[in-house]
Amino acid sequence: MNHSIQVARSSMPAFEEYCEEIQGLWDSRWLTNMGEKHQQLQSGLAKYLEASQVELLTNGHMALELSLQAFGLSGEVITTPFTFASTTQAIVRNGLTPVFCDINPIDFTIDVSKIEALITEKTSAILPVHVYGNVCSVEAIEEIARRYSLKVLYDAAHTFGVRYKDRGIASFGDASCFSFHATKVFHTIEGGAVAYQDKDFGQRLTRLKNFGLEGQEDASEVGGNSKLDEFRAAMGLCNLRHIDENIVGRRKAAERYRERLENISGIQLNPIQPEVLSNYAYFPVVFDEAAFGADRNQVLTALAAKNVYARKYFYPLTSEFSCYRNRFDPGLTPIARRISQRVLTLPLYSELPLDAVDTICDIIISCKK
Ligand SMILES: *Cc1c(COP(=O)(O)O)cnc(C)c1O
Repeated sequence: MNHSIQVARSSMPAFEEYCEEIQGLWDSRWLTNMGEKHQQLQSGLAKYLEASQVELLTNGHMALELSLQAFGLSGEVITTPFTFASTTQAIVRNGLTPVFCDINPIDFTIDVSKIEALITEKTSAILPVHVYGNVCSVEAIEEIARRYSLKVLYDAAHTFGVRYKDRGIASFGDASCFSFHATKVFHTIEGGAVAYQDKDFGQRLTRLKNFGLEGQEDASEVGGNSKLDEFRAAMGLCNLRHIDENIVGRRKAAERYRERLENISGIQLNPIQPEVLSNYAYFPVVFDEAAFGADRNQVLTALAAKNVYARKYFYPLTSEFSCYRNRFDPGLTPIARRISQRVLTLPLYSELPLDAVDTICDIIISCKK
């Protein structure tokens, strides 16, 4: 292929559509601090996500970090190391201790059968990740959380628009954090949101993203600045209009990958989860070297030689980061480690042509011994 194919490609509205959306800002001069676009996006997202409440933030990471703070947690948070850096960093930056639970080898989300053994009197919350857009075992997690009085905060960065049992994904848990980064299914260039249930939590979150200010003069808590400005909210309003067609485009590419790669020995595909309406956020493939004849790194290199850039999402585990050297034992999450050493995330975006998918699959199949 003569032009390169990256793992993700940002969706863009028509240039004119964005210009029209931001034109009024030249008159109003209201560029940030919860203006009109911010309000419109907030209510548009609450409707789309079927969330009772939504707060917008400057990015998905701050959604996680400030949610943990707004819950007033202490001690330990049970989570998984098979995720993007942000999940673990948000816990540690709150002065909390991540306790890593292994994942299940089928959909790569937290293995609910291993949660209870990790609960101590210091545990205050569970932070599961709907990784790749796969829905965690939300009922089992809810049941455990209720029994031990734990908060449940989902990292829902990958599950924008996903539905489970005909309910929006944001309706599960105490709160769900979304990322609107440029590479995500829905984006505001940089941005994020928290969908939540409890009004007091929401009020804290609203203050924390605006320096802890309460009214015009006083700060009632130690907040930061995580506001989403009007230009990015406008980008969100445009992208929200096209989200359904965007997901259809992703679905077509994902279905083509599946047709071409399923039933090849040594290749494990992401599962189609029952009762889940997917957003086709990612197309992870796990390579078993013994059965496939080539390992993940060889496939990655073969693709790169043809200008196709797959990614090792998620490798290494966050518990293996050098900033945590000697602090965690990745051997305690053997399945997460095994998957992270074998997985490759293939290019997937709504405008990915099906003949490009075919070419990518041809390269992968040519690696098979
Ligand atoms: C993208 C992502 C985040 C962080 O979101 P940003 O908007 O980039 O700050 C958090 N968790 C996961 C799983 C992500 O993929």
